[in-house]
Amino acid sequence: MFYIGCHLSASKGFAAMAEMAVGIGANVFQFFTRNPRGGAAKDIDHADIAKARDIAKKNNFGLLLAHAPYTLNACAEKPDVLDFAFTVMRDDLNRMEAIPHNAYNFHPGSHVGQGTEKGIVKIADLLNRLLTEEQTTTVLLETMAGKGSEVGRSFEELRAIIDKVELNGKLGVCLDTCHVFDGGYDIANDLDGVLKSFDGVIGLKRLKAVHLNDTKNPFASHKDRHECLGKGFLGWKAIENIVNHPLLKELPFYLETPNELDGYAAEIAALKKLRRD
Ligand code: FE
Ligand code: FE
Ligand code: ZN
Repeated sequence: MFYIGCHLSASKGFAAMAEMAVGIGANVFQFFTRNPRGGAAKDIDHADIAKARDIAKKNNFGLLLAHAPYTLNACAEKPDVLDFAFTVMRDDLNRMEAIPHNAYNFHPGSHVGQGTEKGIVKIADLLNRLLTEEQTTTVLLETMAGKGSEVGRSFEELRAIIDKVELNGKLGVCLDTCHVFDGGYDIANDLDGVLKSFDGVIGLKRLKAVHLNDTKNPFASHKDRHECLGKGFLGWKAIENIVNHPLLKELPFYLETPNELDGYAAEIAALKKLRRD
């Protein structure tokens, strides 16, 4: 099964997102749990979720991926900023249980001068306070481009976080194709080599999702600017290899390209043509 979708606006609720997804030929989608800048979350609407579930079931949807607000910093220096990250993530994870057995992706954080080591320890501490044996949601660490002082710019950094988390059976990784290429992993020319390295350092069984993006910047730029598929430095050939790679093809792919709905529909249609099943 080719699980392909994109990031959708959550403002009209789950059923609306599921309908939008079907409308653009998608069978998975990603959404922000709240305003990406970290505002209050809306109340859970069980009727809306039931309706969404119905649509998802009818259309054989795969994994739904929630994305944490990108402004929260799980390794912030200031206690109040760290507290905010904890409060938002705990609330998000509680709410995720209304749509059980899905995944919650977050940017590990920025150490802003404290150093990577300290950042890693803080992120792991936060996860140790958050994760519970009972939760059905898998929490995904996103591979980062290494912009500024971002933690998670290398597979080793992600592995170090995972190793420090007690309930790390609840943890996985989301590979962002723009970010890893920007971070210095050449998925355009050596996808096999990068996946081998991922497997050696983290283990491919942790890889649960792919953010499928092209990039506006050349290899190892550490900039994190997404581009529409085929228009950036990855190009269609690399994208084709990614969606057809035997180690990746069963994973869900989520577009985060600079598009409106019609643009996403066109990219999804193009990908389906490239996909060999
Ligand atoms: Fe992200
Ligand atoms: Fe991403
Ligand atoms: Zn990005």
